[in-house]
Amino acid sequence: MIDLQAQYRGLKVEIDAALQRVVDSAQFIGGPDCRAFEEEFASYCGVRHAVGVANGTDALTIVLRALGVGSGDEVVTVANTFVATGEAILLNGARPVFVDVEESSFTLDAEELERAITRRTRAIMPVHLYGHPADMDPILEVARRHGIPVVEDAAQAHGARIGERRVGSFGAAGCFSFYPGKNLGAWGDAGMVVTDDAELAGRVRRIANHGAGATKYDNVVVGTNSRLDSLQAAVLRVKLRHLDSWNRVRRERAADYAAALRGMPNLVLPRERAGCTSAWHLFSIRVADRDRLAAHLGANGIATSFHYTKPIHLQPAMAGLGGKPGDLPVSERLCHEVMQVPLFPEMSKDQVARVADEIRAFSASAVARA
Ligand SMILES: *Cc1c(COP(=O)(O)O)cnc(C)c1O
Repeated sequence: MIDLQAQYRGLKVEIDAALQRVVDSAQFIGGPDCRAFEEEFASYCGVRHAVGVANGTDALTIVLRALGVGSGDEVVTVANTFVATGEAILLNGARPVFVDVEESSFTLDAEELERAITRRTRAIMPVHLYGHPADMDPILEVARRHGIPVVEDAAQAHGARIGERRVGSFGAAGCFSFYPGKNLGAWGDAGMVVTDDAELAGRVRRIANHGAGATKYDNVVVGTNSRLDSLQAAVLRVKLRHLDSWNRVRRERAADYAAALRGMPNLVLPRERAGCTSAWHLFSIRVADRDRLAAHLGANGIATSFHYTKPIHLQPAMAGLGGKPGDLPVSERLCHEVMQVPLFPEMSKDQVARVADEIRAFSASAVARA
């Protein structure tokens, strides 16, 4: 699905030098690379503050806690996402309230949002799924009217934009994951909270570092250990300089797929909402017979993935919330039909053409079988 070895070959000189610098300094937690990466990523997102944390799940969990979300509270989010979105809410003792997604963009349906708000709602958490921005204008309008903060799960959408503004900068805070397979990936786990709110940034930093007060010997709140480490920050600083050009190539390859697969029956291609620029984290197609298409592609040496096979309200881990099949018809349907084919910045036009040819060959043989 991606080729991280090819990516490293292109960056070897830069990354090796950056890592050596950290090793020579022997400053493995905190230090100049962590601070510099926070500043550079905040500036990239168009916000004032960024706080590095250990991973994307912690970014979501800690920022909710910093916003005061706790037991008895509700957070409205989607079920068509990675399980971490729901975990972050439950880990704070709060209850996720799942709403359905738009059929076209796979992201939170703002009309459903209004109906899910109660006196207990303490945050709204849209997910920019597969790199495509959620429809922030109507989401922010509902949030403002009710005085509820919005936390963007931007773990799949580094660099995605609505107009000229990057995701992560719309809500009270944006949360990013730098898991190796994301558009901006570390060499291990890493994450980031971005925000314009200095006080919120301070609370996140404090919680992520054992509740440290003015000195490391004062622990003013019970926190946790969730720090970005310097080796990861050094790798991420190098890669951030390439993110826009990588996202540009992803976009070109997505257009190549669209051109090669246009007009095929029984296949729905991903589209961008007007005014949005997707980060094209994944190229997600919808087909009725994804198991057989995936088997055909696999037999021809082409990787595929199914994100997701089950919306999280139907995951056994969330059974205590009482979700049942039929609660979220669009999310549930998408989890039966959506699959991904390879899309990464090192992918060539020819590789896209070969995948598209195999999809067409499968489709032709399916028609012949019918
Ligand atoms: C990857 C991901 C996360 C979690 O990030 P980790 O760094 O793996 O903890 C959260 N939400 C979404 C939508 C993700 O894709």
